[in-house]
Amino acid sequence: MPGYEVFDEEERKAVNDVFDANGGVLFAHGFDATRNGVYRVREFEAAVSKKFNVPFAQAVSSCTAALRVALAALDIGPGDEVIIPAFTFVATAEAVIQSGARLVIVDIDDTFTMDPSSLEAAITERSAAVIAVHMMSAPADLDRICAIARKHKIRVIEDAAWGVGGTWRGRALGTIGDIGCYSFDANKCISTGEGGMIVTHDKTLFVNARAYHDHGHEYSTSTGRGEEGAIGAGFNYRMTELQGAIGIVQLGKLDTIRSAQRANKAKLKKHLADGKFPFGYRRILDEGESGDALFFFLKDREQTQAFLAGMKRHGLATKNVPDAIRWHFAKHWSHMFAKYGWYHETYKSQWQRSADILEQSIAIPVMVKMSDERIQEIAHTLLEISRDVS
Ligand SMILES: *Cc1c(COP(=O)(O)O)cnc(C)c1O
Repeated sequence: MPGYEVFDEEERKAVNDVFDANGGVLFAHGFDATRNGVYRVREFEAAVSKKFNVPFAQAVSSCTAALRVALAALDIGPGDEVIIPAFTFVATAEAVIQSGARLVIVDIDDTFTMDPSSLEAAITERSAAVIAVHMMSAPADLDRICAIARKHKIRVIEDAAWGVGGTWRGRALGTIGDIGCYSFDANKCISTGEGGMIVTHDKTLFVNARAYHDHGHEYSTSTGRGEEGAIGAGFNYRMTELQGAIGIVQLGKLDTIRSAQRANKAKLKKHLADGKFPFGYRRILDEGESGDALFFFLKDREQTQAFLAGMKRHGLATKNVPDAIRWHFAKHWSHMFAKYGWYHETYKSQWQRSADILEQSIAIPVMVKMSDERIQEIAHTLLEISRDVS
């Protein structure tokens, strides 16, 4: 998955250019007299908006920030409820907590994304939004989630941190709900080290987001910085020119990153099929997934543990499930809920369906750069372990 795998002279040159071509202006705004007309963050925003066919894009410092800004743009806060899936990166939950809204967490299904029926069952009169997470590069069921949201008049935020470049029915992930949030952190499909972006079709939401990410100040290319008005409260979630410069280069590599990775995943699955791998895979809802992990289901927890022991013996890594599950599954977040009294008494028995899925499955990383020999070797080892544990 990671864009860092394809860092080369192009990113290096883009960074040097920030110093050589625009006089070392690292700030995305102002300094008009010294920057020789170079605005890399603006260019990156324009490139994202063109690439994903969405009119408005606002760069921010991370996807965690993007989620927080999205909630602010939608005016969601105390008194509201926001529904998220039990399997996501902890940032999705943190952004809701930071907004002051109440976090409502629902089960996933065998797609490893939000179960739409659990979403519908969790809606109350205080529900303000749902965050659909395209977890580990495969899309959530946007048809059903958006239909439920429309019916109950709640907003849809797409946490497309992991969905950059992915599609749903041919449209870019992140551009289908009210607001989409992308991540360019060190592990994501394209990377600027840290970084994120908000995209939307709604001009008002864009104006709100743009202001909130920059201390509530109105954005203007004609008024000098300091003379512009302010439209509300905000914070500093700005992206720097260095990130913008790298982002432009990485975005140009997105298609090759995705196609290499999808091809590698297909090869791995082909080898496994040839060897009669006995386990079923994650249900994928749309061919537009980016393919950076291969999930398979084991028979029970015992067999899962045995399989993991075999992988460890052979030096094979997993991807988040289970190695970083504490970061990704709500069952491990009691430290975040205690202060609010959420799930306080019940958290151990919550999300049992998600636990049954996550604790009886394994995810294998798929990389951009994997030789055919390596793919074959991984498949061979997985097949060998599967025979040992069956
Ligand atoms: C990576 C990730 C985030 C957070 O992104 P950052 O840019 O690291 O803040 C949020 N949600 C999901 C699903 C992620 O995978």
